[in-house]
Amino acid sequence: MHNFEYANPTTVKEAAELLTAADSSVLAGGTDLLSSMKDYIATPKRVINIKGIKELGGIAKTATGLRIGATVTVDEIATNALVKAMFPSLAVAAQGIASPQIRNMGTVGGDLCQRPRCWYFRQGYGLLGQDKFGKQLVPIGENRYHAIFGGGPAYFVSPSSFGPALAALGAKVKMVSAQYGAREMDIAEFFVIPKNNISREIALMPNEVLTEILIPAPPAGAKNATYEIRHREAIDWPLATASVALTMKGTTVQSASIVLGHVAPAPWKSGAAEAAIAGKSITAESAEAAGAAAVADAKPLSQNGYKVQLAKVAVKRALLAAAGVKG
Ligand SMILES: Cc1cc2nc3c(=O)[nH]c(=O)nc-3n(C[C@H](O)[C@H](O)[C@H](O)COP(=O)(O)OP(=O)(O)OC[C@H]3O[C@@H](n4cnc5c(N)ncnc54)[C@H](O)[C@@H]3O)c2cc1C
Repeated sequence: MHNFEYANPTTVKEAAELLTAADSSVLAGGTDLLSSMKDYIATPKRVINIKGIKELGGIAKTATGLRIGATVTVDEIATNALVKAMFPSLAVAAQGIASPQIRNMGTVGGDLCQRPRCWYFRQGYGLLGQDKFGKQLVPIGENRYHAIFGGGPAYFVSPSSFGPALAALGAKVKMVSAQYGAREMDIAEFFVIPKNNISREIALMPNEVLTEILIPAPPAGAKNATYEIRHREAIDWPLATASVALTMKGTTVQSASIVLGHVAPAPWKSGAAEAAIAGKSITAESAEAAGAAAVADAKPLSQNGYKVQLAKVAVKRALLAAAGVKG
């Protein structure tokens, strides 16, 4: 790890000003940043700890929904009564993350901004996994954990478990920079699928602090759920997930928002699955059909065909979980 300067601001304004220096990084729980620094994937000259900034904390109801501060920990989301009541899809995503230690240290802002776990990226081959001649290594190499959607040239999978759940719920993120002040964007636009060797897979500018997440209140009778499929229960990322948010008319799905996770370089919205379930009651058969629609255009690589089946099952089970139907 290189030497770095350490700053400990107590306001967002101060943090944003400190971030105007080149090669600065925000430090929240440090569970991803520090390992990236040890691997020289991140080499900041200045590290700005934001955990002491009170205005970045807290989970609170607003006039339009729920506000979650960027430094709220994964554990706070997993256990918060409001989150569990309004957005079980988010609580389940939080409960699945890593281990108690990581859930206590890691923050929701850090989770959304964490770097991909693609082993080519982590070994210094960039987001596209290219060697020094520009040859793409993922399609010809070890690709069992890589993307089955998107079709390249980026094949890493977005590592955030919160991303798909928040995208299905139509959340927005807010960020602040000293130069441009505050801005807000849909979480779906926050995740960027690189087409060339850009340095970042999120739409956050290098001098911005992500400050909060805003989730609109669900309409009456709405349902949401997340279903994750993992190799093992703890200390690993999921292989495939699905998050669904449904508006209902009685037992009929009026409209659905269905987003798959860990199968593409960004949370992957499935219009085909949404169309397949709209206007139907959720049964094992209709949920299965939506799962099949979700993966109809999947393009697996040489070693990850198994993820197609997992993604299909994740969609089916997320729908069944949302409706409280046994599959
Ligand atoms: C073994 C293991 C298993 C894991 N499993 C999962 C899993 O299943 N699902 C999942 O989603 N995650 C998983 N994680 C990742 C974990 O959730 C993240 O490491 C954690 O949430 C990151 O939060 P942090 O506060 O520690 O971020 P940090 O490490 O402090 O920061 C991570 C990155 O985000 C930037 N950043 C952080 N906060 C902000 C902000 N407010 N504004 C701007 N930039 C910011 C930092 O500069 C850095 O680039 C796992 C991690 C480990 C080690």
